[in-house]
Amino acid sequence: MKLIDIHSYARRLQLVRLGIAKGNSISRHNAELMEEAAVKNAKSWYVSPAQTYLTRLQFKSQKQEMRLINIAKGKKKDYSAINILRKALRFHKNKVAVLWSGGRCSTVTLHMAKCLEPNIKVIFVDTGVEFPETVRYVKMLAKEWKLNFSVLRPRRTFWELVKEHGPPTARKPSDQRSGEPDTPPCCYWLKKEPIRSYIKQTGIEALITGMRAGESTVRAISLNQKGSPFFYSKTEGVWKYHPLAYWTTKRVCEYALKHDIPMNPLYLKTDRIGCWPCTSFFGWKEKLSKNVPKFYTALMYFFGKFHVSPCVEGKSMNHLEFERAQDGRAVARILTNAGMEIEVHERGKIVCVPYE
Ligand code: SF4
Repeated sequence: MKLIDIHSYARRLQLVRLGIAKGNSISRHNAELMEEAAVKNAKSWYVSPAQTYLTRLQFKSQKQEMRLINIAKGKKKDYSAINILRKALRFHKNKVAVLWSGGRCSTVTLHMAKCLEPNIKVIFVDTGVEFPETVRYVKMLAKEWKLNFSVLRPRRTFWELVKEHGPPTARKPSDQRSGEPDTPPCCYWLKKEPIRSYIKQTGIEALITGMRAGESTVRAISLNQKGSPFFYSKTEGVWKYHPLAYWTTKRVCEYALKHDIPMNPLYLKTDRIGCWPCTSFFGWKEKLSKNVPKFYTALMYFFGKFHVSPCVEGKSMNHLEFERAQDGRAVARILTNAGMEIEVHERGKIVCVPYE
């Protein structure tokens, strides 16, 4: 087999990225070979954005993402990412922090924020079940970028919580009026509680995140109901700013490429960077077993036979359950108007949306 020089490939990719965007350049086969070679060569704590740019994971759902972004935006004003960040810094001065997960969206957000305010506070929540690559990546990049960086740790462990409450299950937008999705106990103890304590101790007024509407239907609906990509969260007692709310994955990748931002090497294996044993998203079993089989085996050993079904009838759909049928019907209307093919059951209590 012909050996691939990953660096010249990466450079070539950078040069022809506009061609790639139009789908008329390097073939998928070559991209796959490149990805394979990159995995073998990924000894470093980071990979170049070009190495992660062209993977089959990234551009599969452009249409779906645009649909979700349109749902989130509605007829409201479009804000540029930089203006959202400027607003946060102007209103909250030094009482603002970037919530960084080590994923590509929050890393791009962090890069923009640190260009405006180099000493901005940056926090990473180490849930104790992060992929080792992610922990190494955030620590090394924090050093390289000389960040004002803090790692928050929870008081309880994932495994303690599984014993008490069972494995985390998929979230449902049960309170669509406030737009706050339910928080499983696991997420509360491992993520929300450490952030809450940090806010209390430091007097932080605002958090900047890399959340995007295109990531999930629940996020798109939640942003639609908030009415803007920045708002005050009553439940968390803090302002939230989401500069990339209306960005697509492709746009995020192009920004990373343009600024040559070091990427988490995990992207060469999987498109999901969060807690490795998380079972609170649909399709976790398939994704984990295919992309990171070592972790999947470990998890199955711990859980025994456990299965989360995306839809009661076994279709490729997300199963959204509402406490009030009228909330479900309202959401169904938004999705139908956006051209999404959905199913409504139990007069609106259950809305099934396809996942791509
Ligand atoms: S993302 Fe999943 S595993 Fe991680 S804290 Fe939330 S529910 Fe738990």
